[in-house]
Amino acid sequence: MPDPDDATLREALADADVYRTLLESTRAIPWKIDWASMRFTYIGPQIESLLGWPQASWSTVEDWAARMHPEDRERVVGFCVAQSQAGVDHEADYRAMTHDGRYVWIRDVVHVVRRADGAVDSLVGFMFDISERKKDEEELLRLHRELERLSMTDGLTGIANRRMFDTRLGTEWKAAREGGKPLSLVIVDIDCFKQYNDAHGHVAGDECLTRIGGMLQELSQRPGDVVARFGGEEFILLLPGADETAAREVAEACVRGIARLRIPHGGPGVGDIVTASLGVGTARPAAGDTARDFLAAVDRRLYDAKARGRNRIEVLEQGHRAAALRAPRP
Ligand code: GH3
Ligand code: MG
Ligand code: MG
Repeated sequence: MPDPDDATLREALADADVYRTLLESTRAIPWKIDWASMRFTYIGPQIESLLGWPQASWSTVEDWAARMHPEDRERVVGFCVAQSQAGVDHEADYRAMTHDGRYVWIRDVVHVVRRADGAVDSLVGFMFDISERKKDEEELLRLHRELERLSMTDGLTGIANRRMFDTRLGTEWKAAREGGKPLSLVIVDIDCFKQYNDAHGHVAGDECLTRIGGMLQELSQRPGDVVARFGGEEFILLLPGADETAAREVAEACVRGIARLRIPHGGPGVGDIVTASLGVGTARPAAGDTARDFLAAVDRRLYDAKARGRNRIEVLEQGHRAAALRAPRP
């Protein structure tokens, strides 16, 4: 009869071999750290093929921390130490440095092993190579940003679109009210553009809009300004911080810029070159004023510029501002 203890021991050793073979053949890299000494008591040999550092070179948690991207180190080490001290299982993503100085995204999944008295005995865990997943996430983020940019851009002219303008008007209106600063708008509407299309065709019309949009965009000097396509042949400039004088100067520069393009018009009953009419206004928003009313008031000035013969600038006067804000659309 064989000794039953021998048989149990042999079985246990065979089991241990099976576990080790399993652990060391998976793509996840197992490891164990003794809590008292903060030293690795085990790390899977796969670590060398992933990061290039020999298995035997992983002795302490300092080795682990030192081989982490400096931008991740403080956050990850602080988080893992705090969680371990609290005895809480956790996971952390970070960039591990390879032996030849590259970085690999790792997800470390950590289990805290406690003794019978509750004190932390050791940490065991698996490191997973998540580079591919991170690459996919980064690509998704890039696509998301690109989509966001496209959703705020006018497809024809490449400048900001109406959605962008509306968003920025909301935030700048609030900022102007809170900061007690002025905010100006310039609306630019091309004159007799229907006739331009009739005379030169829609393709030439598109080109004309693109040239004017590009010129207006270049004209904008201040970083907070927004130059957007407001509608078909209308553009709008949002000028945070610009007072009456600055707004008028910008409007005059728009008129000069359009004239300088010298885009031939010459449709029936219109001038030789393309011109525009402009409505201009400056607000110092107070409680109760709305951006919508201000926009409508400036739009009415544009309407007046059209009614008074086109190719001109009409400004919302300060003294009439309150009345203008309340006036109905013509
Ligand atoms: P007004 O001087 O009073 O502004 O006259 P208008 O002809 O410019 O204004 P109206 O509103 O009568 O016509 C605007 C024209 O703009 C009609 C429309 O076909 C044209 N338009 C709007 N969007 C586009 C576009 O994307 N491309 C082209 N080619 N034309 C456009
Ligand atoms: Mg128009
Ligand atoms: Mg027009």
